[in-house]
Amino acid sequence: MQLRIAILEGDDIGLEVVPEAVKVMKAAAAKAGLAVEWLPLPIGRAGHASHGHSMPQFTVDSLKTVDGWLQGPIGHNAYPRGDATWINPPLRKIFELFANVKPVKSYPNIESIHKNVDIVFLREVTEGMQSGSVTFAGTGEFRPNDDITIGHRVITRKGSNRVARAAFEIARTRTRKRVTAVHKEPIFRLACGMFAEECRKVAQEYPDVSFDEVLVDGFAMKLVMKPQPYDVVVTTNQFGDILTDEGAGLVGGLGLAPGLCIGAHQAMAQATHGSAPDIAGQNIANPYAMIMSGKMLFEWLGHQRGLPEAVAAAAAIDAAMDAVIADARALTGDLGGSGSTRDMGDAVAAAIG
Ligand code: ATP
Repeated sequence: MQLRIAILEGDDIGLEVVPEAVKVMKAAAAKAGLAVEWLPLPIGRAGHASHGHSMPQFTVDSLKTVDGWLQGPIGHNAYPRGDATWINPPLRKIFELFANVKPVKSYPNIESIHKNVDIVFLREVTEGMQSGSVTFAGTGEFRPNDDITIGHRVITRKGSNRVARAAFEIARTRTRKRVTAVHKEPIFRLACGMFAEECRKVAQEYPDVSFDEVLVDGFAMKLVMKPQPYDVVVTTNQFGDILTDEGAGLVGGLGLAPGLCIGAHQAMAQATHGSAPDIAGQNIANPYAMIMSGKMLFEWLGHQRGLPEAVAAAAAIDAAMDAVIADARALTGDLGGSGSTRDMGDAVAAAIG
């Protein structure tokens, strides 16, 4: 079976880090015997130039034909009024990408608050506080008069169940096989209660994975003080928004924060960082997050489609990145090295062999 993966470079440093991720993924695919058809598609300024919009309908339609895609960041301030440059919420809706998967991993020789951290967060991203509704604004807020603002939160059994299931599926592929659900059920008995109930139900179906629950406030504290015991953490939209940034901060910040938005059949690899116009065009951006997002795409597709070659390609990228980081010579400036964006991509691709 051949995978079909789209490449959406985006703007600014997207034009630099996405090609490095593709270079590394191609090297890993060749090594693992994985057949991939690559499909470049325009978004951002390239979308404007060719189709008059930062997310052209042509690109959206083409994405319906692929297994997954790499998405670079968009430069939010560079577009004419009226162009919806906020492309993630619509894309998540169209493709039902319901969970944002964000790993938080420390490396022995990279400065971080904690060592021996290896956590995968799953944040539900289609409901919760940021779900919006037909009548309210995109954040689920409205203001009946100038003195009151009302926000609402939507939690469904379907949404909770599928993100919990995705967490258990990922935990099954890991050594420690542990899922921690983070919520605040004693206070939000209905909303967090429903989320927790669905997590417990799904846990019953995975006797090989251990399961526990932690209240979000205590979890935020434990994450700062002793993050090492956690393996896979699943939570609702807004709690996840905050906790994943906290997690990234524990191990070195934005440059080390990859991500994958997963749906039932497709996934989108996307680094947490933005388009960083302040450093664009200088060949100094750190490609780690984009490369590791691509690695996550291979890994997810490998398990989802039953493709051991894709799992092997992901493992090869992981091992190569470990080696390049341990060696340290090709690392970019933000990681304490003196390498360029291309040096680091080249080094990882070369380490794959
Ligand atoms: P957005 O609104 O698109 O999320 P932002 O301005 O909030 O963008 P970033 O574009 O991520 O955030 O940039 C924040 C800071 O981090 C900038 O100083 C930028 O140069 C730096 N930065 C972001 N990504 C990288 C990277 N891959 N390598 C090095 N520095 C980066």
